[in-house]
Amino acid sequence: MRHGSIPGASGRVRPLTLLGDPVLHTPCEEVTDFGPQLAALVEDMYATMYAANGVGLAANQVGTGLRVFVYDCPDDEDVRHLGHLVNPRLVDVDGVSVRGPESCLSLPGLEAATPRFDHAVLEGVTLRGEPVRVHGTGFFARCLQHEYDHLEGGVYTDHVTGWRRRRVLRQAARAPWAAPA
Ligand SMILES: [Zn+2]
Repeated sequence: MRHGSIPGASGRVRPLTLLGDPVLHTPCEEVTDFGPQLAALVEDMYATMYAANGVGLAANQVGTGLRVFVYDCPDDEDVRHLGHLVNPRLVDVDGVSVRGPESCLSLPGLEAATPRFDHAVLEGVTLRGEPVRVHGTGFFARCLQHEYDHLEGGVYTDHVTGWRRRRVLRQAARAPWAAPA
């Protein structure tokens, strides 16, 4: 059954790229080919996100430098948001900046309080090229900003300041998965 099938059910779990991998620190390219390879990528990304118990995943986290991310994330009212965005643009962020715990599948085991806006609006297209607009508040707004940052070649620790930043970078350097210095 195709319509209504579970996202990622036909996808392949791919290895995650980790902090320090160049693809994670390079701005992703716009998607121009909306063929079956894009649909397969999105399926693989859902499968990988679910296998890792993530709430969001960007394409460069599975080694593909394209502007695509997927999410399955609750907001602060426990409403579930499930979907994907291709070529997203961050069209609005506002509300208060809230510092909250944030983690990333590319920095496994680490967490740091990271400031994010409480509200975010993104526009993009689906894998079929249909326009979509996504509003997020609370934790889902955090997720959208986090995944959007990945497409720009950023990671959440870029936003962490002061002693929190020093601590999380020290933990990253000492992590079992850290690349040799
Ligand atoms: Zn991440």
